[in-house]
Amino acid sequence: MSNETIKDNLDAIRKRIDKAATDAGRNPSEVKLVAVSKIKPAEAVIEAAASGADIFGENYIQEAIDKAEAVNNPNIAWHFIGHLQSNKAKFAVKVFDLIHSVDSLKLAKEISKQAKKIDKVQKILVQINISMEDSKSGISEEETETLIREISQLGNVSVQGLMTMPPYYNEPELVAPYFKRLREISDMIKTMNIENITMDELSMGMTGDFEPAIMEGSTYVRIGTAIFGSRY
Ligand SMILES: *Cc1c(COP(=O)(O)O)cnc(C)c1O
Repeated sequence: MSNETIKDNLDAIRKRIDKAATDAGRNPSEVKLVAVSKIKPAEAVIEAAASGADIFGENYIQEAIDKAEAVNNPNIAWHFIGHLQSNKAKFAVKVFDLIHSVDSLKLAKEISKQAKKIDKVQKILVQINISMEDSKSGISEEETETLIREISQLGNVSVQGLMTMPPYYNEPELVAPYFKRLREISDMIKTMNIENITMDELSMGMTGDFEPAIMEGSTYVRIGTAIFGSRY
């Protein structure tokens, strides 16, 4: 994909984000764009950063480490959005400002342990699998409160909110109930006032469904294809 195209795509996406937020009666600045650069080369990230993107989402640890080093830009943030294995936590805490996909106490403990070693409090989101599809990572709604209370006891992680991946439909409207449910769970956790836990962020919405996600309160949309083109 040419550089012009990345810039044009970013401009078009930002416009759509701003319109969706405005239509929802929200302030567009509440919706942050995570440019999902997995499988795409460092050059694509450099181009996107030159066109104003400042958060990049990656799914694979080694790829992200190599790319972050190649890009070497202190003004951009890297977010981890893929499935994280506990034995990779020591690498993840070094690279990522936010890990969107924490789905077990075991993983949260390992992240906390590794973050402590480098004097960091790692920001995380808890991933919930609302549809309970086997193919998706994340904990069930029912497990959410218990897991968040347990994580709140850990010294070097800080929960900022929740993340979900709904089932895929061709009609974005059909995913809206899943986004709405994530917001309801977030609101419910908020009312519990659990120490050390904030629920300011909702990571939901991708290329095919970010507008309904913004309508339901998304604060991080994770968009790859519409910026960088197909990965296949
Ligand atoms: C790949 C990926 C995305 C981006 O998907 P697109 O459809 O290309 O926008 C978003 N979130 C997660 C968790 C992903 O793995």
